Amino acid sequence: RLYNEVQELKGNIRVYCRIRPFLTGENQKLTTIDYIGENGELVLVNPSKQGKDGRKMFKFNKVYGPAATQEEVFLDTQPLIRSVLDGYNVCIFAYGQTGSGKTYTMTGPNSPEKERGVDYQALNDLFYISRSRRDTFMYEVGVQMVEIYNEQVRDLLSSDGSQKRLGIVNTSQPNGLAVPEASMYPVQSTSDVMDLMQTGLTNRAMSATALNERSSRSHSIVTIHVQGVDLKTGATLHGSLHLVDLAGSERVDHSQVTGDRLKEAQHINKSLSALGDVIFALSQKSGHVPYRNSKLTQVLQSSLGGHAKTLMFVQINPDAGSYSETLSTLKFAERVS
Ligand code: ADP
Ligand code: MG
Repeated sequence: RLYNEVQELKGNIRVYCRIRPFLTGENQKLTTIDYIGENGELVLVNPSKQGKDGRKMFKFNKVYGPAATQEEVFLDTQPLIRSVLDGYNVCIFAYGQTGSGKTYTMTGPNSPEKERGVDYQALNDLFYISRSRRDTFMYEVGVQMVEIYNEQVRDLLSSDGSQKRLGIVNTSQPNGLAVPEASMYPVQSTSDVMDLMQTGLTNRAMSATALNERSSRSHSIVTIHVQGVDLKTGATLHGSLHLVDLAGSERVDHSQVTGDRLKEAQHINKSLSALGDVIFALSQKSGHVPYRNSKLTQVLQSSLGGHAKTLMFVQINPDAGSYSETLSTLKFAERVS
């Protein structure tokens, strides 16, 4: 009961923390994770500070330890997928430093099937539920995929691979598209969407210039648009699902980088803090929500606030070497949860 009340108070924002397992080569004896509670508690310990002073407790709607399976994680996101078909705007995103498991949670490996990420499982559910309602509802589903890099929005599904900057529309229409110029493809199955996402990922990789691993420095946003018609009454509903793999949240030492790297870092920093500010304003029920401060929050506006449902995965590494990044990730999450 308490759990539901808390969620209600926070305006449908849920924050789940996920700790990835150690990877080969990491020293498993040195971890920062001291305790994981059943009710979303997490105790972080500073490896260079003994005793009580070095320990800090955080509280989430849920914490997944390193042994949590993709299936377990997805079970908790399932109700959100049903909401999309009921006409809600839903946003699921993963926040954390590069290497903390954002892409693993959102997309996962291609096989085995049960290891696939939230996006695949979500789409399977979405199509499954829409088929199960086919006697009462007719659904049409469309997909867009964009990348935000250096505060520019780019279509990842354009047929000519064009690098055109896309504009964002501030729309209050239920079926309004935030990025109307981005290519939209009608889809009928999970594999239709997966094929499109594969194309999108290829386009994203191709745009990497001198900088390799661009994926950690841009935000990718897959948007599933759902339009439903009630076959009995003719009433229509619109829902959407944003699946967001954010740029890495790691802080860059401004004395160490210059030029393009510095610009990238500043853009990422700006958009992630804008996202934090928006969610913070929503959690405070503030009258003014500062959506206009970044492209990221403008693109996601319809699925943040109002009747929208938002789920943030806070991804952290377990190793002692990541302590300061982990602390800053948890502080970001603490502010919004
Ligand atoms: P990010 O997208 O945040 O940069 P990745 O998702 O690429 O991080 O994860 C970094 C590495 O950790 C990858 O090799 C990934 O397969 C692995 N990894 C992340 N989370 C898990 C997990 N829950 N179980 C197993 N391996 C994981
Ligand atoms: Mg990634």
